[in-house]
Amino acid sequence: MQLIIFGPPGVGKGTLSDLLADKYKIPHISTGDIFRNEINSGNSELTQYVEKGLLVPDMVVNKVIEKALKQETFKSGFILDGYPRTTDQAEFLENALWKLKKNIDIVLNLVASEEEIVERATQRRMCGKCGALYNLVTMKPKKKDACDKCNGPLVQRKDDEEDTVRKRIQVYREETTPLIEHYKKKKLLIDVDASKKPRTIYSEVLKIIEAKIPKQQ
Ligand code: AMP
Repeated sequence: MQLIIFGPPGVGKGTLSDLLADKYKIPHISTGDIFRNEINSGNSELTQYVEKGLLVPDMVVNKVIEKALKQETFKSGFILDGYPRTTDQAEFLENALWKLKKNIDIVLNLVASEEEIVERATQRRMCGKCGALYNLVTMKPKKKDACDKCNGPLVQRKDDEEDTVRKRIQVYREETTPLIEHYKKKKLLIDVDASKKPRTIYSEVLKIIEAKIPKQQ
């Protein structure tokens, strides 16, 4: 099964992707996570884009995806979170999948209002050790500052500060929303009301997947 989780920054793509990856035992590829890891390992070239909420150039992102898709672990399927984000990336992906004789099954479009997104992104916390995601309102950790899974410190991403979130939403509107029409035309896009709680969204998405790809049950 090949899924794209689509939607504005902070809408809950990462949380939903983690739950689905766990359920279907397929890898979750988050280009944002890949870039944050690279920055943490010293790749300062990416900081100018990621920390300001700007898109990393298509050529760089496409190379990352091309490399990921060739790995053995992706043969049984994958969940793409945060990619594609531009028309160029969508075309690159289609070409890369065509070469691998694969296709996209569903594009789940997470929909929420700008105010909900800003609220959600600014309340998001991430474990600095294992990357687990929390939300101080909708998915609280047991202890305020520590990860439930590994007790690592919970941190706020620099690009989750309000001004940067608003910038990221603007970039999303300008660069990424044209893809909605692109996937609608291909009859792959399914809207999901992402204003609900993460577990409710997850249950609704399971029903969508089971209806569309029955063999996944
Ligand atoms: P995310 O965690 O998906 O919100 O991504 C965080 C940041 O990584 C974005 O604001 C961009 O700077 C960069 N990024 C992630 N995915 C992409 C992509 N597909 N194209 C360009 N930049 C990306």
